[in-house]
Amino acid sequence: MWIKGLLPYLYPIENKPSYPIVDLEFIKNKAIELEAENLQFHDFLRNLDSLSLDKSVFALSEAISPKIECTDCGNCCKSLMVNIDEEEANNLSAHLGQTRAEFDEKYLDKGESGRMVVNAIPCHFLVGNSCSVYEHRFAGCKEFPAFHVPDFNKRLFTTQMHYDRCPIIFNVMESLKLATGFKQAASSSL
Ligand code: SF4
Ligand code: SF4
Repeated sequence: MWIKGLLPYLYPIENKPSYPIVDLEFIKNKAIELEAENLQFHDFLRNLDSLSLDKSVFALSEAISPKIECTDCGNCCKSLMVNIDEEEANNLSAHLGQTRAEFDEKYLDKGESGRMVVNAIPCHFLVGNSCSVYEHRFAGCKEFPAFHVPDFNKRLFTTQMHYDRCPIIFNVMESLKLATGFKQAASSSL
């Protein structure tokens, strides 16, 4: 059903009969191939009405995200630095039965901005492709990839940073190129 509704907006890839695309190697290579196009797309998105754009992004994400099993992927937890605040550190250290001093020594570091970060990539708490502290995971983990958060057009840069590693971002952004008319506009200007 979701395919039917979204079919006009799904990324048309030859020899890829099933959607969404979850092949991480394929996505990584496409990100390199489409780098220039993606920069143009961001300029295009900046000129769209912010509220309408948020609605489109949210709708595409709602349709696509449930079709992607994060536990088959885990790529964000394997490749991103995770920020953490005092309250989150207190909660997780208590959950793990550790003092804050033990927890900080074992798991935390200071990032470039001075904020606390988890001191390992992949994340210490990833087991297989699943989070071993899921109920106590950090706000950034819960939020990613943040398509439900308003003002998407202010996060184009950060979204693009993760386009090459997150199947949800890749599929939403490629579908958005069609849903916004960017693909049609780009091909007619060639
Ligand atoms: S805390 Fe869990 S969800 Fe967050 S990065 Fe680590 S493994 Fe992933
Ligand atoms: S949020 Fe994206 S990168 Fe992270 S596990 Fe899910 S699909 Fe993979």
